[in-house]
Amino acid sequence: MSFDPPADAEARRAVAPVICYPNDTLPQPDLALYARARADAIKTGEIVVPPRDAACFTLPAGHFFRITSVEGPQVGDLNLWNAQDLSERFYSGKTRALHGTHLTTGQRMWSSFPALRPMATIVADTLDWYGKDAFGGSVHDVIGTRCDPYAGNLLSGGQYHYCCHSNLTRALADYTGLSLAEAEPHVHDVLNVFMCTGFTRNTGQYFMKASPVRPGDYLEAFAEIDLLGALSACPGGDCGAQHSSDTASCHPLRIELFAPPAEALAGWSSPAPNGYDRSHGA
Ligand SMILES: [Zn+2]
Repeated sequence: MSFDPPADAEARRAVAPVICYPNDTLPQPDLALYARARADAIKTGEIVVPPRDAACFTLPAGHFFRITSVEGPQVGDLNLWNAQDLSERFYSGKTRALHGTHLTTGQRMWSSFPALRPMATIVADTLDWYGKDAFGGSVHDVIGTRCDPYAGNLLSGGQYHYCCHSNLTRALADYTGLSLAEAEPHVHDVLNVFMCTGFTRNTGQYFMKASPVRPGDYLEAFAEIDLLGALSACPGGDCGAQHSSDTASCHPLRIELFAPPAEALAGWSSPAPNGYDRSHGA
């Protein structure tokens, strides 16, 4: 059944929106300090993530990681954990509430409760020129989840094993020595690196379109805390057509790690966990 609108329906629709989380009191990163530190950083590692697979990396607080498109357009699904405590992990929903649907330079990846602190700060994004397109699409979203074999089974049956959810689960299990069953609950909603997405204006549905990423494009971030990361090269490739199958053309992704000289971060300290006292009014 549907209901008749009230007499003042248009007036109600015309009420101006209010930003839920005004971010004028959000602690701001010192991007100039990070840029100076990055200028003198040396490369300490490189990992190539094969197509339809994932790989893990660790890096200390104060270092940088860069994710680069190589060979062809490819989307990456990124998970981050506190390297010492897997229960503190990237919180896509709160990051979206604080910054918006897509991330770019100067914005942060925030961690889960109770820590709720910056895990990583984006310091370079070669796709920042894209902005928002006519469909409302943009790049590097925190509105999607991660492609997974459960939704695939629900919608079309079958057993597909190379969705980002499974790739991240395998990679985390291999890297940490956890069993697959132990590793799987640690996998969480991702930062969709290079993915171009939005919500349709008429139905509000999540959409994707071919990523504008070209080989050489990169997203780079500063580790605010000690990090364990996992990156999946999505079976959707550039996500221009479909995922959760072997149909799309897929390419590797490169992760590079960089360490600045220690003195370059003078005045910076890794953020402490959130200050809420956790008494919850009891
Ligand atoms: Zn995926």
